[in-house]
Amino acid sequence: MKLFDVYPLFDIEIVKGRGVHTYDAEGTEYLDLYGGHAVISVGHSHPHYVEALAKQAENLVFYSNSVINTLQQTLADKLGKASGYDDYQLFLVNSGAEANENALKLASFHTGKNRVISFKKAFHGRTSLAVEATDNPKIVAPVNESGHITFVPFNDIDAVKAELAKGDVCAVIIEGIQGVGGVQIPADSFLQALRKACDESGAVLILDEIQSGYGRSGKFFAHQYAGIRPDIITMAKGIGNGFPLGGMLISPKIEPSYGMLGTTFGGNHLACAAGIAVLDIFEQENLVENSREVGEYLIEQLRAFPQIKEVRGRGLMIGIEFAEPVKELRRRLLFEQKVFTGASGTNVLRLLPPLVLTKADADEFIKRFKAVL
Ligand SMILES: *Cc1c(COP(=O)(O)O)cnc(C)c1O
Repeated sequence: MKLFDVYPLFDIEIVKGRGVHTYDAEGTEYLDLYGGHAVISVGHSHPHYVEALAKQAENLVFYSNSVINTLQQTLADKLGKASGYDDYQLFLVNSGAEANENALKLASFHTGKNRVISFKKAFHGRTSLAVEATDNPKIVAPVNESGHITFVPFNDIDAVKAELAKGDVCAVIIEGIQGVGGVQIPADSFLQALRKACDESGAVLILDEIQSGYGRSGKFFAHQYAGIRPDIITMAKGIGNGFPLGGMLISPKIEPSYGMLGTTFGGNHLACAAGIAVLDIFEQENLVENSREVGEYLIEQLRAFPQIKEVRGRGLMIGIEFAEPVKELRRRLLFEQKVFTGASGTNVLRLLPPLVLTKADADEFIKRFKAVL
């Protein structure tokens, strides 16, 4: 049987990972500045993570959400403590798109309204509402065109207010830092004004922290730089360090009722064991602080290159914008210098390394980066 061919692949197979490195079958070592697309948070095959998964798999991999699963409560308690949101409620799913889909649904249930405000260049996933809230018509199928989404310019509070004034908006959804959109950071003052405008209109404020969250920005969630508290926070990517896991943190003002949301696999035992191990490692190794420190260090080094147009980022979510396309640069980094990197659009190289990256790793990257420039 053929694979359904939707991914333009690099001609490399990765068979092993350790910390910030990955390896092909011949044993060639690659420095991973991409983290498998911001997914690897505590490093590849961290010993504590591997042990926790193996132990849990021996006991129980899965049982349904029709019985008590104390691992979900353990994860909720640890996440409340790590994030500062211990008064919120946790709902677990399997992916980022599913988290956003459920967040939008919940906002609509809560308000009884049906219009959603999203932003230019936003990316929220591939399921029906999540993809419609993504500003890329190429990936929106005709069946996804509900007409419920309105796009407004990023960082433009007057445009948001004009839409909210129409009275039919259930939710505003925004990334903590736009990833696909080129590592664009919303202004702190914009997020603060957005919080106020949503309070005044009753619209639910959803922060998509699927990429920017979980320590990546140098705070637990990127929106915490602005000091605001959203109504719903969506998470995925780094939360399971590669095991599929997503979730929503839901404000206490939004009340659950039996059956309003549901999932077969979400919050299963093995997924929770992964999530718990990740947070234990975050605490033991101070990964949020490490992300901030090493990120600042890396950004500073990158800003010294005259070939670069602009460096944007917080913590270990970094966009390096060039005047020309980065495709060839990215390919050369991979094949000549053995470094994985990501991209946003055509001209931005995107760095999303595991949060265990050290300053010595950053120096090594800079050395190899210099060599291809
Ligand atoms: C990756 C991503 C998603 C989608 O997550 P999936 O797990 O691929 O469904 C949504 N929003 C943002 C900001 C993302 O980076």
